[in-house]
Amino acid sequence: MVNLAGIKPRMLMGPGPSDVNPRVLEAMGRPTIGHLDPQFLEVLNETRGMLREVFQTGNELTLAVSGTGSAGMETCVVNLIEPSDRMLVCVNGVFGQRMTDVAERAGADVTTTEMPWGQVFSAEQVKQAMAKQGPFKVVGIVQAETSTGAAQPIGEISEVVHAAGALLLVDTVTSLGGMAVDVDGWGIDACYSGTQKCLSCPPGLSPVTFSAAAVEVMDRRKSKVQSWYLDMSMVRQYWGSERLYHHTAPINMLYGLHEALRMVLEEGLEARWGRHAEQHRALKAGLEAMGIRYLADPAHQLPMLNAVAAPEGVEEGVVRKRLLEEYGIEIGAGLGEFKGKAWRIGLMGESATGRHVEALLAGLGETLS
Ligand SMILES: *Cc1c(COP(=O)(O)O)cnc(C)c1O
Repeated sequence: MVNLAGIKPRMLMGPGPSDVNPRVLEAMGRPTIGHLDPQFLEVLNETRGMLREVFQTGNELTLAVSGTGSAGMETCVVNLIEPSDRMLVCVNGVFGQRMTDVAERAGADVTTTEMPWGQVFSAEQVKQAMAKQGPFKVVGIVQAETSTGAAQPIGEISEVVHAAGALLLVDTVTSLGGMAVDVDGWGIDACYSGTQKCLSCPPGLSPVTFSAAAVEVMDRRKSKVQSWYLDMSMVRQYWGSERLYHHTAPINMLYGLHEALRMVLEEGLEARWGRHAEQHRALKAGLEAMGIRYLADPAHQLPMLNAVAAPEGVEEGVVRKRLLEEYGIEIGAGLGEFKGKAWRIGLMGESATGRHVEALLAGLGETLS
C-alpha cells in the first residue's frame, strides 16, 4: 500500500492544482462537525461573504457548489437552460468545447461561434453571431482559456449580449484570484470558478454566483432543473436562512476554502493580480530568452497560464517527466489541438512566486541542454 506519509511534495506549475499553503491544509484538518452546527453555519456565512468580495459582486445567490469547476459549469448551464432553449457558446479551446457538450446534454439548442486556438473574441464578432443566428437565451464564454493561455476581455461582450436580450455566462475557473474578475462591473449573470487554480485550495468546490436577472429566469422555469444535485432552487435553501438539508455540505473542504479566501483577501485582490502579472513577465522573459514561443495572441496572454510551444525536435513528454522526477516540478501537457506540441506552465496562487519561476527556468534549461 502507498504510504501517504511518504508522498513527496511537488512544485505545482501546471494548469491546476496549484500549491496549497499549510494554513489551508491545517484548516482542513480541523474537527469535522455537523452541517447544521451553528459553528459551521458561521463558516458558511463568512465563506459566502468572502466569495462575494472575490467575485466583486453583491449577488445574493453566491455559494460554493459541492464539486470541482466542471460541476460549477454544469450548475450554471442546467439552472438557466430548459429543454430547447437556445444558447450561443464561444469556442476557442477545450473549455468552450466542454461548455458546448454540457449545454447539449442539458437539452439546449446550442450554436457555437469559433476562433482559432490562442485567439480571443471581439465584441463585434459576438454581436454579429447574435444578429445572424439569434435570439439566444444564454451566451457562454471562457475568460481564461486554460488550454491555450488566452485572456478573453469580458466587459464589451457583456454589453452586446445584454443589448440582444441574452444572459451572459462566464467561466472564471482559472482567472478568479489571479486577475480581475468584476462580476457586477461587467454585468455577468452567471459565473463559476474552481478552488484549485488561483485560489490555491485543493480541488473539490466550485464557487458560483448569479445576478438578480439570472435568478428571475430560474424562478420562472416551467420545468424542473435536469440535475437534482445541482438544482439551485434547493441548494440555495441550505446556504440561505432556511437552512434546509439538501445534501451534506463537504465540511472540511469548506474549512479549506474559508482559509484560502481569507488569504486572498489578506493579500488584497489588486496586489494578488499584480503578483501574478509580475511573475508572468519574469517567466516570459526567461522562456523567450531560451527561444521558447508563446501560443496565445501577444495582446491577450494570461498571467497564470503560460501555454508555450515545445521546441522542434524535443519530446515534450520526456521533458515533463524529467522535470517531475529530477526537479519535483509539475507542468502540464498540451490539450486538444496542442496535444504533444505544447507545455502549459501555471503560475497560480501560491505557485506564482519568484522561487517557482527561477526553479522552472533552471530545471527546464538544464533538461533541454
Ligand atoms: C480547470 C478548468 C475547468 C474545469 O475544472 P475542474 O475543476 O477540473 O472540473 C473549467 N474551465 C476552465 C477554464 C478550467 O481551467
